[in-house]
Amino acid sequence: MDFETRAIHDGQEPDSATGAVTVPIYQTSTYVQEEVGVHKGYDYSRVANPTRTALQVCLASLEGAEHGIAFSSGLGATTTIMHLVNPGERVVCVNDVYGGVYRMFSQVYEPKGYEFTYLPAADVSANLADHLDERTRIVWIETPTNPTLNIVDVHAAAEAAHAAGALVVVDNTFATPYLQQPLALGADVVVHSLTKYLGGHSDLIGGFAATNDPTVAERLFFLQKSLGAVPGPFDCWLVLRGLKTLAVRMRQHCDNARAVAEFLSGHPRVERVLYPGLPDHPGHDVAARQMRDFGGMVSFLAESEEGAVELVARTKLWLLAESLGGVESLIEVPARMTHASTANAPFAVPRNLVRLSVGIESADDLIADLEAALVRAPAARA
Ligand SMILES: *Cc1c(COP(=O)(O)O)cnc(C)c1O
Repeated sequence: MDFETRAIHDGQEPDSATGAVTVPIYQTSTYVQEEVGVHKGYDYSRVANPTRTALQVCLASLEGAEHGIAFSSGLGATTTIMHLVNPGERVVCVNDVYGGVYRMFSQVYEPKGYEFTYLPAADVSANLADHLDERTRIVWIETPTNPTLNIVDVHAAAEAAHAAGALVVVDNTFATPYLQQPLALGADVVVHSLTKYLGGHSDLIGGFAATNDPTVAERLFFLQKSLGAVPGPFDCWLVLRGLKTLAVRMRQHCDNARAVAEFLSGHPRVERVLYPGLPDHPGHDVAARQMRDFGGMVSFLAESEEGAVELVARTKLWLLAESLGGVESLIEVPARMTHASTANAPFAVPRNLVRLSVGIESADDLIADLEAALVRAPAARA
């Protein structure tokens, strides 16, 4: 069945006890047993909970995966996956990875003796084999990257990684399974922040991992219960509700982002627009091949850092806030906000970069608000 249908029905049979059409919020920690060890498949909610199971089944289906495992946050999913790696082993990672993932890798795992190599997206696509060795356990990819919207060729990277015996993990948060299916492109594990497009309404924190590898899946289910970074049933229910409209939301996010990127491209006070949907973007062709559409995130370079900081304070409709992927449009300066943790990294984001999470309001209203904020910017130096 098609994506839209699976998003609404998979894992979500009407409740057998009551006929409820919507999966109930099973707000319970424990489950009665008829006799020792005899129960209906649930014994304790850290191990399993029916609302969480419905989410895991639905989202696995959307990613084309056999197995789905939900977590309390995107970073909860990431740290659990990092338990597939041992101290002394290496992770090769795209260098403009999400700031929180970089902070975890560099400040939590590196001091414990894990090794990390950071490569530009273009190198992960084209020369990955040159950077792998027998100690490389994971190749960690994000595409499009946050916040510079670089594109990694997942298929090419997976071929190189597999030849060297490494697992390929793709953070699919920016694209969502509606736009891109990394497992079909050769990845071994897909990871998500549910907080973003999948929840879609800026009202929860959650994470998710999916895989078709039975050994990896068994280990991740074991780690889910053993490390304990599990989501509560209400948050799972909110994500299930968000998934039902994922396809229609993503279509609108993409249309609006395209319109905003085109408007900014022609604006004299914008130095450069970073959007994979623009034909001059270096990753445009790969993105066109591996994605259904180009997503709802747009970044651009303002005239200066001060220009960027002043601009984001002037918009009215675009809310100045971290995070992304909700129905409402958000604007931020990554170097000062979401990516402050990469400030001392060799690949720190440009100080004048502005990141837009383009929502599903009227594109005309969004453009008018940006236009007004840009008009009042100080004049460019001659
Ligand atoms: C937000 C985000 C994360 C972390 O997810 P949380 O739910 O905030 O823990 C990881 N990767 C990307 C690309 C993100 O945008």
